[in-house]
Amino acid sequence: MISPSSSIMAVDSTLSSVVGASFSEKDAKALQFIEEMTKNVDSVQERILGEILSRNADTEYLKRFQLNGATDRDTFKSKVPVVTYEDLQPEIQRIANGDKSPILSSHPISEFLTSSGTSAGERKLMPTIHEELNRRQLLYSLLMPVMNLYVPGLDKGKGLYFLFIKAETKTPGGLLARPVLTSYYKSDHFKSRPYDPFNVYTSPNETILCPDSIQSMYAQMLCGLIMREEVLRVGAVFASGLLKAVRFLQVNWKQFAHDIETGTLNPKVTDPSVRECMSKILKPNPELAAFITKECSEENWECIITRIWPNTKYLDVIVTGAMAQYIPTLEYYSGGLPMACTMYASSECYFGLNLKPMCKPFEVSYTIMPNMAYFEFLPHDDSSAQDSSRDSPPRLVDLADLEVGKEYELIVTTYAGLCRYRVGDILRVTGFHNAAPQFRFIRRKNVLLSIDSDKTDESELQQAIENASVLLKEFNTSVVEYTSYADTKQIPGHYVIYWELFVKDAANAPTDEVLSQCCFQMEESLNAVYRQCRVADSIGPLEIRVVKNGTFEELMDYAISRGASINQYKVPRCVSFTPIMELLDSRVVSKHFSRALPHWTPDRRR
Ligand code: AMP
Repeated sequence: MISPSSSIMAVDSTLSSVVGASFSEKDAKALQFIEEMTKNVDSVQERILGEILSRNADTEYLKRFQLNGATDRDTFKSKVPVVTYEDLQPEIQRIANGDKSPILSSHPISEFLTSSGTSAGERKLMPTIHEELNRRQLLYSLLMPVMNLYVPGLDKGKGLYFLFIKAETKTPGGLLARPVLTSYYKSDHFKSRPYDPFNVYTSPNETILCPDSIQSMYAQMLCGLIMREEVLRVGAVFASGLLKAVRFLQVNWKQFAHDIETGTLNPKVTDPSVRECMSKILKPNPELAAFITKECSEENWECIITRIWPNTKYLDVIVTGAMAQYIPTLEYYSGGLPMACTMYASSECYFGLNLKPMCKPFEVSYTIMPNMAYFEFLPHDDSSAQDSSRDSPPRLVDLADLEVGKEYELIVTTYAGLCRYRVGDILRVTGFHNAAPQFRFIRRKNVLLSIDSDKTDESELQQAIENASVLLKEFNTSVVEYTSYADTKQIPGHYVIYWELFVKDAANAPTDEVLSQCCFQMEESLNAVYRQCRVADSIGPLEIRVVKNGTFEELMDYAISRGASINQYKVPRCVSFTPIMELLDSRVVSKHFSRALPHWTPDRRR
C-alpha cells in the first residue's frame, strides 16, 4: 500500500491534538496515515520486507544468497550481507552498461539517481524504479498537513521556493543519470500536480525547469519580487541554496529593479519558455522598483528577507547536518524567522519527516516512515566498534527496537533492489512518536569538509594535497603538516587549507603564483560534486593559508594542554573550534587562492 488510507476515521491522532485545529479532509487523511504507520512500525516493516523479497526473489542478486523463497526477517538477516556502494559497483556498472536482466530488481531500472556521495571521485549511481516516484510523492504529500497544524493560513498566499534542475547524462546503456530532485521536478507527478491552495509557488514550472541555472534563478527571484506581498514562506532545499539566492539578489538587484520598472525582461534571459511565462507576469511597476532599490541599496542587509517579503512566516530549508553552519547567517538575513526542516531523504530512498517542523534547528528530529523501505540500524558506539574488531558480524537492530539516546548507522533495503545498503548517515534516537523512533541527524560518516552538497573525506583531501605538493618539488619545498576548514562566513563558502611548509632554500621559495597553482591543482583533484559546485559558484575558490614553522607543534601542545594523549595525538585534518582557528590564523604568513575553475562536465571521468 503506498497511498494514505482512504478511510477518514475520526482523527484521534496525537498529531492533530497539537493545536486542536480544524483541518481539511485531505489533511485529516494524511495525519491519519502518519498515525497508522507510526503505531504499527514493526508490522509495516515486516510487510515491506516481505513485499520487497517476494517481488525480487528471482533477481540475480537475491538468488545468490539462496533465500529459497523465504521472505522473513531472520532468514534475510542471516543470509544477505550488509554492503556498501563499492560492493555493488559491478552490478551497478552492468546495469549502466545496458544489461536489462533482473540483476537487483525485478522491476526495470527506470534511471539512475546521482547521489552527492561519491565513489572514486564520481557521484554514486543509485538505481531506481518508476514506482519510487509514488513513494517520494507520498512523503511530500504529508509535509503540508503537518505544517498546517502549526502555521495557519498557508493557503492564503504563496511559497517562494528556489528549485532547480541539474545536468543529466546517459549511461553507456542509455539510462538517464540525474539527481533525484531533477528526476522529480521533470516528472508528471510534479509538472502536472493538481492545484492545491497550500502548495502554490511563486515560481512557474517553466522557471524551475529551465536548464540554465542562472536564468532559472533570475526568473524565480523576479517572480518572488513581483509577488512579494503574497509570499508566506521562503525556501530552498538546503540552507546553502537559499543563501545563494540572497547573494544573487545582492549582485543583481539593479537589474531586477530595472525590469520591474520597465516591465521588460533582462535580455540575458533567453530561454523561450521562461520569456513567455514571464511576459504574463511582468508588468511595469515603478513603485515596486523604487521599493527594491531603496531596500537593496542600503549597506546593511540585516533582515533583508523580512524586509522584502514581510509576510514570511518561516524559512523552509534544511539546516540540520552539514547545513547547521549556515544558521547564524540565515538568522541575520531573516531576523530570526523559524527555520523549518521538513524532511530527511536521499537518492537511495526518502526516509521520513519532521513532525514538529517549527521547532528550533537543534531540536529537529525526523520520524522515519516505515512504509518507505525496510530499515535496519547498525549500533554506532564503542561497544559495537569492539565487536567489529573481533570480527563478529554486525548486529543490526530493527526500526521498532531502537533505544533512545543511542546512535546508529542507517541501513536500507529498497524496492529498487538495494539490499542492506549502508547509507552512511549516523542518527541518534531522541524519542518516539507512537512506536516510531525519531532521529536527530548526527553526521555523515567520513565527511571532513562540506560547503554545499559536496562531501570531501579525509583520503580525498590527502590525495589532493599530494597532487598539489608535486608542484613544490622544483622549489625544494614540501608540506610538513596540514589541516582544513570550511569557511562559510561569506557566500559562497570556500575550503581553507592550512599548510606548514618546509622550504629548504629560502631564496627559491614558491611564489604566490605557484601556491595559487597548488590551490587549483587541489581543486582539480577533488571529487566531481566539489568541482560541479565550484563551476556553479556554490563554492568559492579554494584558499591555502601558509602558517609559520612550528604552528602545528603549537597545535599539538594546545591539544595536550586540554587533555589529549601525547602518544595518540593526531593532527586534526579539519578544524572548526574557535581557539584553534584563532591560533592558526594568528600564525598565517601568506594567503593564496585558486585563480581558475576546475574542470567539470556532466560526463563521468571513468
Ligand atoms: P543525496 O544522496 O545526494 O541525495 O544526499 C542524501 C544525504 O543528504 C543524506 O544521506 C544525508 O546525509 C543528507 N541529508 C538529507 N536530508 C537531510 C536532512 N534533513 N538533514 C541532514 N542531512 C540530510
